[in-house]
Amino acid sequence: MQSQSSPLGEFDLIQRFFKTQSEAMLAANPRSVTLGIGDDCALLKAGPLEEIAITSDMLVSGRHFFADANPEWLGWKALAVNLSDLAAMGAKPLGFTLALALPDANPFWLEAFSKGLFAIANQYACPLIGGDTTAGPLNICITAFGSIPKEKAIRRSGALEGDDIWVSGTIGDARLTLAALRHEIELSQTDLALIEGRMHQPTPRIELGSALREIANSALDISDGLLGDLRHVLKQSRKDAEVFLDRLPKSATLLKQSLNTQNQYAASGGDDYELCFTAPTSQREAIAKISANLHLPLTQIGSIRPMQSSQPEISLIHQNGMKLSPQGASALLQSFDHFA
Ligand code: ADP
Ligand code: MG
Repeated sequence: MQSQSSPLGEFDLIQRFFKTQSEAMLAANPRSVTLGIGDDCALLKAGPLEEIAITSDMLVSGRHFFADANPEWLGWKALAVNLSDLAAMGAKPLGFTLALALPDANPFWLEAFSKGLFAIANQYACPLIGGDTTAGPLNICITAFGSIPKEKAIRRSGALEGDDIWVSGTIGDARLTLAALRHEIELSQTDLALIEGRMHQPTPRIELGSALREIANSALDISDGLLGDLRHVLKQSRKDAEVFLDRLPKSATLLKQSLNTQNQYAASGGDDYELCFTAPTSQREAIAKISANLHLPLTQIGSIRPMQSSQPEISLIHQNGMKLSPQGASALLQSFDHFA
């Protein structure tokens, strides 16, 4: 049945039809759930010392990937995006289930898919432990489980006033790859080869997440775009933020694009799966050590500010120290919403 009302956004619909009822049930009977809907993972109590982190992510043909996408890459990415949510909480992978709808039982496709899937499963010691298989339009849904020392999960809700905001690696390359594949931007074969792995075979930052457990006040993984995702942290922590545009960490390939494209892709391009986290300024040295140990750049891009109104605000600061106009900022503050 068609609704007459205005279309619901992704987060509005989760809130209205799922989160409200879920929270009412948990409030009435908390049982063993420590954290429900709203973070990168849910948390269940497991014994006196441990919690289990749980996350589900789905890849849908025509939505998240082209129908003829390389199945080996798809196998990798389907698990990578889930491991990335475990990383964001600081959890260690335990295992995963795989629910698969397939248009046909093509052994060549399945061989390659399985190869990519088990390549990353082995790399992160995360075994497949169950699932479901059915005929239907290609759809890959993974649920991953991780373990985390009790009460040590890094939540979206923990950002404190004065915290530095950090981003791992570089951001914007997955969006640049998509633009090149859609012929929106011309990239040389050499440039494309340098960055396309960021879209097809992202690296979940599991080691970083674990290292940040005693250091970060809040964290999430960047799946829908840096500033839109940062807004989830701000909303749940009830804080504002100041972000310096010229500090956003970009690859050499993205730096060859116009400044406008660079800022747009780094600020709001999705699919990067880097971590964005906040930590007190007193942790700068510890964070520099983690960066050196992991051979992974960690860049301070701004700081957490007290909340000025009922909705979180992100002030974007230009190279020259001036605040970006609301019009200039609005394009960069967009993030991906499946129903917007
Ligand atoms: P992420 O990008 O970290 O995977 P999402 O933005 O997809 O998180 O989801 C936001 C929150 O909403 C998460 O806590 C997720 O578990 C929850 N969520 C999403 N879809 C549903 C759903 N259909 N039912 C219950 N919870 C959901
Ligand atoms: Mg996430």
